[in-house]
Amino acid sequence: MKPFTFSKSDKISKALSGKNDTVHFLAGGTNMVDLMKKNLASPDALIDVTSVLSDKIERQDNGIRIGAVVRNSTLGKHELILSKFPLIAKSVLAGASPQIRNMASTAGNLLQRTRCPYFYDTSTPCNKRKPGTGCSAWNGNQRMSAIVGYNEQCVAVHPSDLCVALVALDATVNVMDKKLKPVRIPFDMFHRLPGNTPELDNNLPANAIITSIDIPDNSFHRHYAYVKLRDRDSYAFALVSVAAALQIEDGRIKAARLASGGVAHKPWRWHQAEQFLVGKEATTANFSAAADLVSKEVAPLAGNAFKKVMLRGAVETALQNCLTA
Ligand SMILES: Cc1cc2nc3c(=O)[nH]c(=O)nc-3n(C[C@H](O)[C@H](O)[C@H](O)COP(=O)(O)OP(=O)(O)OC[C@H]3O[C@@H](n4cnc5c(N)ncnc54)[C@H](O)[C@@H]3O)c2cc1C
Ligand code: SF4
Repeated sequence: MKPFTFSKSDKISKALSGKNDTVHFLAGGTNMVDLMKKNLASPDALIDVTSVLSDKIERQDNGIRIGAVVRNSTLGKHELILSKFPLIAKSVLAGASPQIRNMASTAGNLLQRTRCPYFYDTSTPCNKRKPGTGCSAWNGNQRMSAIVGYNEQCVAVHPSDLCVALVALDATVNVMDKKLKPVRIPFDMFHRLPGNTPELDNNLPANAIITSIDIPDNSFHRHYAYVKLRDRDSYAFALVSVAAALQIEDGRIKAARLASGGVAHKPWRWHQAEQFLVGKEATTANFSAAADLVSKEVAPLAGNAFKKVMLRGAVETALQNCLTA
């Protein structure tokens, strides 16, 4: 690991003025330190931002605000989250391990890097690690790779569980840019598809800081589910995950949210299936038809055709589980 300096900032303006391409922020360090150990990130300096950002979950007029350094473990057990936004708790508690969740922050979870094995293997070409070198996964091991929204440049997936619930619930990311100007980014626009710049994971402005996440009020606290399918029951990233939330009145679906992780370079919303469900009865037949619509949207690679079958099943199960949440 390259030598680096470490400082702890006490003011957001000071943290931002010290930030540049070779100076990185540090929250829980659960991803950053791993990247540094593997020489995938080689900052000259780290600025610990845990003292300058909020670690509170607060009620707003039309929703809640989650501070950037709220720990994943706090998010998973907070009373307001459990009563009004339980899908958030379900998703965040499906990730990592209790020890990691005790350190990991909300903002850090959004910014964690892909788990594509070639990204970590510096002896192989990887457009995300070294733009222009090629994508080893394109003709390589595709078990964990994307099945929608990918291209030849990169088939990696975003590894977060929390982000799947955040995109489903129409969250907004609050950012402060280098010039201290506040910027609001709708969650669906925060992460990127690979396009011609697979090295970029998200649309966070250069050297900006995430300050908090807003989630608008909703009526999904009674019927929700997070289904995560993975190689081990704990401490493993999703092969496929599904966040589902329904608002049901008199047996009919008034509103629906459906999103997935492990399928694309960004947390993915299934808008077509959501629209199909609205106005329908909450029946197994309609859930099955919605799962078919999701299934039609994906185009697996040669090495991960199983994910299409897995996803269809996960969508149907998640919708069904909404009835017993
Ligand atoms: C073994 C293991 C298993 C895991 N399993 C899962 C899993 O199943 N599901 C899942 O979702 N996650 C999983 N994770 C990922 C884990 O949740 C993330 O590492 C964690 O959320 C990152 O948060 P952090 O605070 O530690 O971020 P850090 O490591 O401190 O930072 C991550 C990145 O965010 C930047 N950053 C941090 N805060 C800010 C800010 N406020 N503004 C701007 N930039 C910022 C840092 O500069 C860095 O680039 C796992 C991690 C490990 C190590
Ligand atoms: S899928 Fe993306 S991260 Fe993986 S090798 Fe290809 S370019 Fe690199």
